[in-house]
Amino acid sequence: MSPNEFVSNEVSTKELGKQKNYKWEIVWFNVTCFTLIHLSGLYGVYLMLFQAKYVTLLWYVVSTIFIMMGVTAGCHRLWTHRSYKAKWPMRLILMILNTAAYQDTIYQWARDHRVHHKFSDTDADPHNANRGFFFSHAGWLLVRKHPDITVKGSTIDCSDIAQDPFVAFQKKWYKWLMPTFCFIIPALIPYWFWNETFSCAWFVNFARYCTNLNTSWMVNSIGHISGTKPYDKSIRPTENYGVAMASLGEGWHNYHHAFPWDYRAGEPGIFKVNITTTFINFFSFLGLAYDLKAATPDMIKLRATRCGDGSY
Ligand SMILES: [Zn+2]
Ligand SMILES: [Zn+2]
Repeated sequence: MSPNEFVSNEVSTKELGKQKNYKWEIVWFNVTCFTLIHLSGLYGVYLMLFQAKYVTLLWYVVSTIFIMMGVTAGCHRLWTHRSYKAKWPMRLILMILNTAAYQDTIYQWARDHRVHHKFSDTDADPHNANRGFFFSHAGWLLVRKHPDITVKGSTIDCSDIAQDPFVAFQKKWYKWLMPTFCFIIPALIPYWFWNETFSCAWFVNFARYCTNLNTSWMVNSIGHISGTKPYDKSIRPTENYGVAMASLGEGWHNYHHAFPWDYRAGEPGIFKVNITTTFINFFSFLGLAYDLKAATPDMIKLRATRCGDGSY
């Protein structure tokens, strides 16, 4: 789903001319950062197994779920797809949670995701799954972008996203907000409130960050490679139960690409776990989310009969 550019891997228009024959160019700074982040996350897992307090483990679960909502309910379903509307308190909460997820600013994430939907699995798709599992999972953040992403991506209108004052505020202050909400506050909470050691709190938060990153990336990799296609067999995205569980409801990806404007990002059903939809429904109950767009059962059935792979 998302970008995470420590160093911009964008290609300038000047450079485009030189890149007629596109070659992979590794961004070593990003490779180093992601390696260190994942080593820190693994050490966090070790501490969770052998040293952390039980309440810190609970904190890991709770913070992983809520921070993920900043990506799934916020960046994805609200700002990218406009599948529902949210009043300012909900947008403020989602903006803070999204900052804690550190998958780039809402504006950048949403822009890349609109490009992903419009040019899905072509060279213009930032995480084109035709370039292999690793590329679509994390590799796309470690190499310079394909020039088509810049050229075709510039045709996508994102002015509506930029106009949201919360998006603009986050973009302006990101270099201060991101470290505060992604690394400092989530580590200070266990340290202050239940006397966890600071090193334990710090590295467990890295495990949380790695979990959020990888469960988001799974949607782009496994969710475009393995699973059924009940709604549209002509596209790569699939329905994958494991991805849906891990990404808190984003793994019903064949449905989502067929009906990107549906706030549920999946067909409702007893076995179709979708925590993000429950989260949005709760805010709708509070009156903070409204104008929820959803496909009717007839529309879904018709699409499945006409375009599905027969697994419906
Ligand atoms: Zn997709
Ligand atoms: Zn989407």
